[in-house]
Amino acid sequence: MKILVSNVGSTSLKFKLYDMPLERVLCEAKIERVGSEDDAIYTYKNRVTGHSERSLGCRVPTYTEGIKLFLDDMCGEHGAAESTGEIAAVGFKTVLAKGFYGVHELTEEVLEAMRAYLFVAPAHNGPYLEAIGRFRELMPGARLIGVFETAFHTTIPPERTMYAVPYEWYEKYGIKRMGYHGASHSYVAETLGEAYGSTGRTVSCHLGGSCSLCAIEDGRSVDTSFGFSLQTGVMHANRTGDLDPYVLPFLLHEGMDMEEALEGLSKRGGLLGVSGVSNDLRFVEEAAEKGDARSKLAIDMFVNQIVKYAGAFAAELGGLDNLVFTGGIGENSASVRRRVCEALSFLGLELDGEANAGPGEGVREISSVRSGVRALVIPANEELGIARRTYELVK
Ligand code: ADP
Repeated sequence: MKILVSNVGSTSLKFKLYDMPLERVLCEAKIERVGSEDDAIYTYKNRVTGHSERSLGCRVPTYTEGIKLFLDDMCGEHGAAESTGEIAAVGFKTVLAKGFYGVHELTEEVLEAMRAYLFVAPAHNGPYLEAIGRFRELMPGARLIGVFETAFHTTIPPERTMYAVPYEWYEKYGIKRMGYHGASHSYVAETLGEAYGSTGRTVSCHLGGSCSLCAIEDGRSVDTSFGFSLQTGVMHANRTGDLDPYVLPFLLHEGMDMEEALEGLSKRGGLLGVSGVSNDLRFVEEAAEKGDARSKLAIDMFVNQIVKYAGAFAAELGGLDNLVFTGGIGENSASVRRRVCEALSFLGLELDGEANAGPGEGVREISSVRSGVRALVIPANEELGIARRTYELVK
């Protein structure tokens, strides 16, 4: 069965066509800078024949154009399907819908629930609603499935998802901790299960443009650093992470308008906001090495927040068996990994400095043979998680 996975970013589109249940990738594509009249980057690979192409300076002004570009290639000369009619389902890495937290057929009711939370996840729900609408027009025969990023976290017990707000806010508005990065953390849980037979007590750290930690016990999410919106938890590339809720009304009281305040919280915060250098950790690390005090502070804060959540989760789990790093930062910043592991040495974690600093591919252990906690790098593969969930629903 052919299943297409679609990952819609705020300025990017990624596609992977799977042959399921073999989990074989047939072709894949990535479009960067969607919205551009002349500067988008398009990469396409047929993983069966090895054919690959990359075009710079493309015109992809809308998501519709981007989707058409890929579908034409998927069914073209170097394609992996004769026609779109062969695709049984499209799985979307959807983020948030009011009242729908699992894996769902994208009916009008579910789309309406996504619209209801457009304000909470504007950078995600808006592009997804547009892309899903286009797929519905272009591939009327395929089932459209939303694998919500909240899905993996529906197993967290209520005493950890509830906020101490008036109870009717929960009942009327659905205010509670949702948790995101479900496709990534569930992939970590499945990978650990396959490699070691069980997840035991695990803290999974997805560190990328967005960052979150997840406590996993026996394969299930039991806590997350993400709260109601994607604004929360540890600081992100350009979003603040946890913040006293009274900061916002105070800023408004001081005369700042809502738009400016929201822009600061969601676009000018995080690593970028503190360092003033970049939202990309590579540049912040470079500046810190050259002695830039604010960049050093940004990294110190970032490491501290990860350690704090990991420590809290280890307490909830009653100990720790695995500490996993994934995502662009988790997979590539040996320095962040080293600092986090050193701070958690009180749990019995001992890093293998060479394994951590050296290059490596695939799943790899970075703790020493004496370590009481296994530390690992697991390269993120969110698309496979989406393909698996979609297949389970439609098979
Ligand atoms: P997203 O969450 O947007 O999918 P990724 O998981 O791809 O992002 O992570 C992107 C981030 O990974 C970049 O912004 C950068 O900060 C970080 N990153 C990538 N490579 C390195 C590296 N070699 N060293 C430090 N950070 C890196």
